[in-house]
Amino acid sequence: MNTMLKDAPAIPAIPQGSDEMGAYINDLLAQTERNNPAQPEFIQAAHEVLETLVPVLDAHPEYCDARILERLIEPERALLFRVPWIDDANKVQVNRGFRIQFSGALGPYKGGLRFHPSVNLGVLKFLAFEQIFKNSLTTLPIGGGKGGSDFDPKGKSDSEVMRFCQSFMTELFRHVGPYTDVPAGDIGVGAREIGYLFGQYKRLTNQFSGILTGKGEKWGGSLIRPEATGYGCVYFAEEMIHARGESLEGKRCIISGSGNVAQYAAEKLIQRGAIVLTMSDSSGFVHDTEGIDHDKLVWIQQLKNERRGRINEYADHFSTASFTPADRALDYNAIWSVPADCAFPCATQNELRIKDAENLVNNGLRLLSEGANMPSTPEAVERLLAGGVLFGPGKAANAGGVGVSALEMAQNSMRVSWTRDEVDTRLRDIMSRIYNASVDASERFGAPGNYVVGANIAGFLRVADAMMDQGVV
Ligand code: NDP
Repeated sequence: MNTMLKDAPAIPAIPQGSDEMGAYINDLLAQTERNNPAQPEFIQAAHEVLETLVPVLDAHPEYCDARILERLIEPERALLFRVPWIDDANKVQVNRGFRIQFSGALGPYKGGLRFHPSVNLGVLKFLAFEQIFKNSLTTLPIGGGKGGSDFDPKGKSDSEVMRFCQSFMTELFRHVGPYTDVPAGDIGVGAREIGYLFGQYKRLTNQFSGILTGKGEKWGGSLIRPEATGYGCVYFAEEMIHARGESLEGKRCIISGSGNVAQYAAEKLIQRGAIVLTMSDSSGFVHDTEGIDHDKLVWIQQLKNERRGRINEYADHFSTASFTPADRALDYNAIWSVPADCAFPCATQNELRIKDAENLVNNGLRLLSEGANMPSTPEAVERLLAGGVLFGPGKAANAGGVGVSALEMAQNSMRVSWTRDEVDTRLRDIMSRIYNASVDASERFGAPGNYVVGANIAGFLRVADAMMDQGVV
């Protein structure tokens, strides 16, 4: 039982600010809800950011006069297109393709492509909106975007995935470019998909240019890009826990997901001497009471990246582990009931709810770093902060991926490739700067230690100032 946590003070809540600005934000959110029916994830993200900005607007009424928020809440462009392709049975299939180019105030649109059946306009608008502030926090010259399709790569052959990616790029290619929009991977889009997408772009345009990041390291990709989101999420956790005079060594950690972000968060935690107890996929989670060590993680990487199998196979293979199937009828996820010091949700949005937060706090959790985008519901975040849990919000904690994507763009422009150590050092520096910017903003605007508030405000200020400079566009 973790005795220190009992004394952990509650993290300050969001500062209220003036009634006048509070009313202005409420009106704007009501308008946003009316304008975007049936987009609950986007509305959730808009609330999450805008509600923390009231004290900023009190200090900077000029942003209201310039209607910065009214402009920021509308994407600059939202593209929706048909993606027809032919499956292995020679049947025509049709999916929907999207690209949301949300804000180009700080640079070319940047953000991943997600291929998952749950993809729709609202989900991608939430992701693209979050991406604006995340990218701003890195202090690198990148705007915010996101895209994808309701195509499900699971269960498809490599040839089917290739034909789908070629058809997707046959429309997308006219909207992207190294100075316009540079997508990357996300759920369901890994090295294989990026390769097929890039190949088709090259064929259509007769140009070998850096229009995607996450490319293979032999043909323009950056070293450490595959690792960057997971590693960065652990670096952010380290910053938080070091500030309390502790380290990750020996800490019991629970990770959800077993994809790109989860795998490399696990790898870095193992390197730091932490004990990784769990990993999951949409079918359920495995709990290894002795910890997932380096060799077991390599086994998971082969399972997921090469054999494309399900996580329960881990429990069949290793006698120290048990498998618990996902049960969507419950109001909690059993994975978050495993007692732990640190938690790393690395699967998907809204995977950690109020009951989960309650369980984590009661079990003595001291730190949570979000590898996924918006994995914790607003009520869960509130509960974790009230319980004194050090909380790294996704837009800060998982910004390492886009940070190294921006480094990949820089290497492509200069026609150079940096060493592993060089990129890793830069990644660490990016995460440390994001942490410090979040700390500073949280203190400056009256919620010291609340990195949700800090990250939102630090990310917003840079975008808002760029918009002020660039006039009404
Ligand atoms: P992957 O596709 O590599 O892995 C996703 C993992 O999450 C899989 O284990 C998957 O299980 C699980 N998962 C996905 N959807 C669900 C669901 N609805 N319920 C339960 N489990 C689910 O994706 P990534 O690792 O790249 O992305 C994970 C998260 O990290 C996402 O939120 C993404 O937006 C975020 N992120 C990713 C970045 C990157 O660089 N890749 C950068 C920043 C954030 P299954 O295989 O069964 O579907």
